[in-house]
Order: sequence, then C-alpha cells, then structure tokens
Amino acid sequence: MATGTGTIAFLGLGHMGLPMAKNLVAAGYSVQAFDVVPAAVEAAAATGIPTVDSANDAVAGASVVLTMFPGGQQLLDAYRGVDGPGLLAVAHPDTLFLDCSTINVDDAREAARLALDAGHRSVDAPVSGGVVGAEAGTLTFMIGALPEDLESVRPLLEVMGGKLVHCGDHGAGQAAKVCNNMILGVSMIAASEAFVLGEKLGLTHQALYDVVSTASGQCWAVTTNCPVPGPVPTSPANRDYQPGFAGALMAKDLGLALKAIESTGVAAELGPMAAAMYERFRDEGGAGRDFSGIITDIRDRSNGAD
Ligand code: NAD
Repeated sequence: MATGTGTIAFLGLGHMGLPMAKNLVAAGYSVQAFDVVPAAVEAAAATGIPTVDSANDAVAGASVVLTMFPGGQQLLDAYRGVDGPGLLAVAHPDTLFLDCSTINVDDAREAARLALDAGHRSVDAPVSGGVVGAEAGTLTFMIGALPEDLESVRPLLEVMGGKLVHCGDHGAGQAAKVCNNMILGVSMIAASEAFVLGEKLGLTHQALYDVVSTASGQCWAVTTNCPVPGPVPTSPANRDYQPGFAGALMAKDLGLALKAIESTGVAAELGPMAAAMYERFRDEGGAGRDFSGIITDIRDRSNGAD
C-alpha cells in the first residue's frame, strides 16, 4: 500500500471517477469503491478496483472519502443521508472528505461546513482535463482547503493529477473552476462568431487562424480547440465534434457560474449570455457533442435557420 494515507473510500465511478480510482489502485493505494449504479460498480470491479456493497461500507474504516459526483445535491444528500445515516455520521472522527466533483460554490462551502461540524476535515478539489486527463493521471486540481489538509492528500492527488493549484480556503477550488470555465465558454462563443463572420466576409479558416493564432485574439479556444476543422488537426471539429468537453458539461458549468454571479451581484453580461446559449445548445442536440460544436448553431442561425 502507498504510504501516508489509509484506506480511501472512492464514491462515484462514472466517466471520471473510474479512471481516477484505477490510477490510485495502480499506485498501491488501498481503495474501497462504490457507485449507486450497479453497472458502474461492475465496470470498476472488472478493471481490478476493489468494490463494496454500499457507500457506508466504503466509508467504514476509511481515512479519506473521495467523491466524484454529478453535482452538489448528490454530495449534500450523501453527506447528510437521505433514508438513513449519511457519510458524515458513519465516518470515523477526523476523516478527510475530498470532493472532486464540480459543484456550486455555495454547496461546496455548505459541504465543508457540514464536514467540519461533524468533526471531520474537508477539501474541495474540482478538476480540469476531462476523461483523457483522468486516464493519464494528468488532471489539474483546483483546491480549496486548509494548507495542512492539502498536504495530507497531496500524494494521492499527485497520482491522479499533473498540476495542483491551492486557490484558498474551503470553496476556493470551486470558485476558481467556475471562473475559468466562464472564460472558456465565452471565448469559445467569441471564436465561433468570429470564424462564421470570417466565412461571410470571404476569409478561409486557415487565413483567419494564421492571423488570430499569432495576434491579440489568440486564446485556447482557437489554438487548441479550434471550432473549425483544418487548422488544428487534433481539435474535435475534425471528428464531427465528438467530445472532448461535452456541451452538457459546459451548460452545467455555466449554470454554476450564473448562480455565483447572482449570489455575488457581479454586473456580468457575457457570462449569463453564454449560459443561455449553451443551455440552448444542450437542449437542441448538443448535449453529447463537443462544446465547440456551438459554431454550427451560430452558422445555422446566420443562414436563416431558427
Ligand atoms: P458521471 O455522471 O459519469 O459520474 C458520476 C457518478 O456518480 C455516476 O456513476 C453516479 O451513479 C455516481 N453517483 C451519484 N451519486 C452517488 C452516490 N451518492 N454514491 C455513489 N455514487 C454516486 O460524471 P463524470 O463525467 O464522471 O463527472 C463527475 C464530475 O466531474 C462532475 O461533477 C463533472 O462536472 C466533473 N467533471 C467532468 C469532466 C468530464 O469531462 N467528464 C471534466 C471535468 C469535471
């Protein structure tokens, strides 16, 4: 077993959780894994991840409880318990609750408060890097935690990630994630509108790319995830917008940004507009497509479609 950490209860074995748990097992950590969906548990067991029959079984005897859930409601329900005792009640005192899901900043702060009130420790560590980064163990973790709590989980985060950024106290990891993804959503829309405008003005994609990629419009949305096929051969546009980063996840993250904007009173205009555009993209067939596929919506509407 890897030194310095006892057993890890790993809850949430979906697209991200399964490869993350697999990397921990491969590095020698003692893992007890569980998911509410039996097929996810079976898939994990088939890859050699030790699984148990319930979340509470996973948490019993664990020193770290790592969660990788769809959203904040699932996390708060699991912490509090719905039909019986929750994870916080079942865990040994001073267990470290490490949440890697992407959730609302207010929910993250509430989850930390609940954990601390129950005599535990709390770290929020949402990730970027997607399934590819989860498989390769190269995720970026954005961390909200007390410094000593971060140090106690640093070795296991380094197994799953290539970069750790300590952003501040509880909730700060989620805050950084939501701000970053708001920039990403807005900049992808800006890049997509510019490429469609370029098309209308008679520019080739390559000509516009050659200028923007070395000029002041340069950004990740253009040089890495370019929304048109051709200039960046690895971008999802070259494979009919297969994700990559799915439209449903961008819509979710911009929804979290919107909640944060509302709760802080920031006079943001582009963030809410981007949230509305990605909600429509998700609802009109873009949920499972890469988020750069929003360019096809912009092009269709530019050509008179509703
Ligand atoms: P997913 O839906 O594939 O997996 C989530 C898993 O959690 C599911 O298998 C679900 O059954 C399980 N779950 C829910 N409640 C549970 C509970 N109480 N106990 C045990 N298991 C429970 O989602 P994902 O794509 O793996 O993403 C997980 C998180 O990571 C999300 O918050 C997402 O926003 C974030 N994220 C995803 C990506 C990505 O590319 N997929 C990238 C960055 C961040």
